[in-house]
Amino acid sequence: MTVDTESLPDDPKRYTDAQWRQLLSPVEYRILRQSGTEPAGTGRYLDDPDGPGTYVCAGCGNPLYPSTTKFHSGCGWPSFFEEIEPGALTVHRDESHGMVRVEMRCSRCDGHLGHVFDDAPHMPTGKRHCVNGYAVLFVPEGRDPQAVLAEHRGRANG
Ligand SMILES: [Zn+2]
Repeated sequence: MTVDTESLPDDPKRYTDAQWRQLLSPVEYRILRQSGTEPAGTGRYLDDPDGPGTYVCAGCGNPLYPSTTKFHSGCGWPSFFEEIEPGALTVHRDESHGMVRVEMRCSRCDGHLGHVFDDAPHMPTGKRHCVNGYAVLFVPEGRDPQAVLAEHRGRANG
């Protein structure tokens, strides 16, 4: 399906559900727009071959994590210890599935990213941002996030 990006509103929070379904792959849609979780060990970016760059929101390209904040936690999802700058993401109390957790959402498009836990004492912040691999895209250093996002959308929907 061709994505008609010309007709998209400037503000991703105003994209319609139909537009999101066109822009995202089915698994990205389920995670970002329906607060889904990929099964442990199945997502993108589990290992660290990505090199220097930035992980951005797979929904809107908002920069979220420098590659220098990624670490291997062994939990089955990409893990980061700190967002790129204050306000890059928003946090919300999540009482679903019989647990009390802190959910993280992209501040630009409100897409669900994952949860943050206080169980990384060996990291500078003590935090483990447990992010769905399909909620983010890796942008190599020097590349424009929006260009990488456009290429990715072309492939995901090609
Ligand atoms: Zn976003």
